[in-house]
Amino acid sequence: MAKYAAQCRCGETSITLSAEPVAQLVCHCVDCQKVTGNDFTQIAFFLPDGCEPKGAFDEVTMPGGSSHPKTYYNCPKCGSCLYATVSVLKGQVGVVAEQIQQPFEFKPKFHVWTSEKAEGVEVASDALQFPRGPNKPPHLV
Ligand SMILES: [Zn+2]
Ligand SMILES: [Zn+2]
Repeated sequence: MAKYAAQCRCGETSITLSAEPVAQLVCHCVDCQKVTGNDFTQIAFFLPDGCEPKGAFDEVTMPGGSSHPKTYYNCPKCGSCLYATVSVLKGQVGVVAEQIQQPFEFKPKFHVWTSEKAEGVEVASDALQFPRGPNKPPHLV
């Protein structure tokens, strides 16, 4: 049964999620900034089993920070990014948290790629943060 649902701004693409996320983080990398158009991206990672995407996505694949490819899944109509996958994370699905509807509550555990942070963005000094990606999968950090 779906626990949470996320959809793009226009509703053309969506994804249902049947479990709690395994990790939540804020990504400051320039790729996410370009794709989402935001200064940083709030991401909730889910195991692939309970994720059901619906709709035809525009897939944008590029080399990730560790040179393993990553793919962003965007709505072809409104352009918003709904989720992304990173090949090194074995299919974990990183859903853009601001697209996930209530009762989902975003509770980030840490920040990644702060070395590429957009100008003017402040990260609380007591927040756990990594200049690049952490050296282990997000759910193990
Ligand atoms: Zn859309
Ligand atoms: Zn990123």
